[in-house]
Amino acid sequence: MKWALIGASTIAAQHMIGAFRAQDGGEVVRVVSGSADRAAAYAGEHGIPGSGSDLAEALADPEVDAVYISSTNEKHHAQALAAIGAGKHVLCEKPLAMSVGDAVEMVRAAEDAGLVFATNHHLRCSGSHRAVRTLIEDGRIGRVLSARIHHAVHLPANLQGWRINAAEAGGGVIPDITVHDADVARFLLGEDPETVAAQMGASGMGQGVEDSAMSVWTMPSGAMVMAHESFTHPFAGSGLEVHGTEGSVFARGVMTQRPVGEIELVTKAGREPVPFPDHGLYGQGVRQFVDAVAGKGTPAATGWDGVKSLAVALAVRDSARTGARVTVDYGGAA
Ligand code: NDP
Repeated sequence: MKWALIGASTIAAQHMIGAFRAQDGGEVVRVVSGSADRAAAYAGEHGIPGSGSDLAEALADPEVDAVYISSTNEKHHAQALAAIGAGKHVLCEKPLAMSVGDAVEMVRAAEDAGLVFATNHHLRCSGSHRAVRTLIEDGRIGRVLSARIHHAVHLPANLQGWRINAAEAGGGVIPDITVHDADVARFLLGEDPETVAAQMGASGMGQGVEDSAMSVWTMPSGAMVMAHESFTHPFAGSGLEVHGTEGSVFARGVMTQRPVGEIELVTKAGREPVPFPDHGLYGQGVRQFVDAVAGKGTPAATGWDGVKSLAVALAVRDSARTGARVTVDYGGAA
C-alpha cells in the first residue's frame, strides 16, 4: 500500500512511518504540510520521495492508495473529505473532528464512496488490552460491575504546543486522551457509555484549555466507568482495572504507545499473572487497515468507533462545563 501523509507530525515520525513500511509492499510516497519548506525538510529526514503543501496535488497522484491524517485536530474534517472525494482510503487520527456531526459526515462519505475509513485508536491494538478483553469475554471475572481507567501522564516538552494552548486547534486533554479512554471502555466492555458526569481543570499546563479531567460514565448494563486524564502527572503511572462479580483484572502501565505493562487476575482462586503478546500497537492497526482494504475484515477501530469516542469525550467536556450529567449524543452513529 502506498501512503500519503497529511500532516508532517511527530506521531508519523515516531510511530507511523515505520508501521507503514513494515507491511509487505508498504511505502510512504508523499508528505503534505502547511509549509512546502517544512514538508521538504520532513521528507528529506524520513526518506519520503514526494513533498509539498498542495493537498489537491497529492490527492491527484494515482500512485497514492491511502492517506494517513495526523495534522492538528481542526484540519482532519476537511482533509478527510478531500481524500475521500479523491477516492483514497483514510486512516485518521483521533479525535476525528471537532464535532460529532463533522465526524459522522466523514464516515458516511467514506461509506458512500466504498472506501475504508479507520480511526487510529492504538490501545485496542495492544496485546494487553486484548488480553483483558478476552478475560472479560471468557467470563473470568463474572458480570462486570465497574472499571477504572487512570491515564494521567506528563506531556513531554516537545508536545507542549497546540495541545495546551490552542482550543481552536483541538487542544486540551479531553480531545487528546479522554477519546482514547472512551475507546478503551467501549472495546473492553462491549457497550457504549450512556451518560457522563465530569469535572475538568487546569493544573499547571493548560492555557485556555483543560489539562486534567475526571469523569464517571454509566453503561447500559449498569456498570460504571471512572476515568482520569491529565497532562501534568509525572509519576502517576497509568493503568486500568475491571471489577466483576467473580474477579478483578489489574492492568498496570498499559495506557501507553508501547507493548509494555503487566496484567494480574484476582479471583477466589488467588492471584495470577496474565501473559500477553508484545506486538507493536501501531503496526497491528496498520496491518488490520491494509487487510480491510484487501477485503479481509474490518479495521481495528472503524470510523464509527472514532465517532463514538469523540461523542463520549465531548459529553465529558459538556458535563464539566455545565456541571450537569450529560446523555452522550452519538449523532446517529451505527
Ligand atoms: P504535532 O504537533 O507533532 O503535529 C501536528 C501538526 O503540527 C503537523 O501536521 C505540523 O503541521 C505542525 N507541526 C509539527 N511540528 C512542527 C514544527 N516543528 N514547526 C511547525 N509546525 C509543526 O502533533 P502530533 O504528532 O503529536 O499529533 C498529530 C495528530 O495525531 C493529532 O490529531 C493527535 O491527536 C494525534 N495523535 C495520536 C496519537 C495516537 O496514539 N493515536 C498519538 C499522538 C498524536 P504541518 O503538517 O502543516 O507541517
